[in-house]
Amino acid sequence: MDSKIRMAREMARRAASYRNRTCRKCGQTFVTRAGFYELKHLPPFTYDSTCIQCRREQSADFRESKPNYHRQWTANNPGYVSPCNADGSYFKNYQAKYRKKIEVRDRMRVYRIVAKALKDGTLTKPDQCAGCDKPVSGRGLHGHHSDYALPLQVQWLCSRCHDDLHRAISMGAVINGETGEIYT
Ligand SMILES: [Zn+2]
Ligand SMILES: [Zn+2]
Ligand SMILES: [Zn+2]
Repeated sequence: MDSKIRMAREMARRAASYRNRTCRKCGQTFVTRAGFYELKHLPPFTYDSTCIQCRREQSADFRESKPNYHRQWTANNPGYVSPCNADGSYFKNYQAKYRKKIEVRDRMRVYRIVAKALKDGTLTKPDQCAGCDKPVSGRGLHGHHSDYALPLQVQWLCSRCHDDLHRAISMGAVINGETGEIYT
């Protein structure tokens, strides 16, 4: 497949995780990435069709109706290890590998989009940091992206706030891409 088409699809898929999705079971609508589990054994940005709440209820029902299911299964399959998950890291690494690739590829593209937007006035660079309100100008103000799927959603931060933010992210904080709000 043409790499441009593939990238466009990828970006559409990522952007879709911010849009609303309706639960197949209860019919309620939530923002996809907040209201639905991401299916970690499938490619990145693939979400469950049933909302988190309904999925939890389903699991609880299952546990209640077959309380010994897992114990029995383990007894029937002693020492079972999935062949693709011998060291237990398969699911953890599966998406990480792809996400890294996606991120590196997107970054350069997004920088070009931002540079263009600043030039033609679609985006304007403020003269103070959005984190600490310190006045900063020019290159001292970094454009931070919570998600490269949303190139024009930029948080303008001084280098100190930007460092702090990345430290928080590396420590596992989750940032709301739309509001910049940090969940820890
Ligand atoms: Zn539901
Ligand atoms: Zn700052
Ligand atoms: Zn950043």
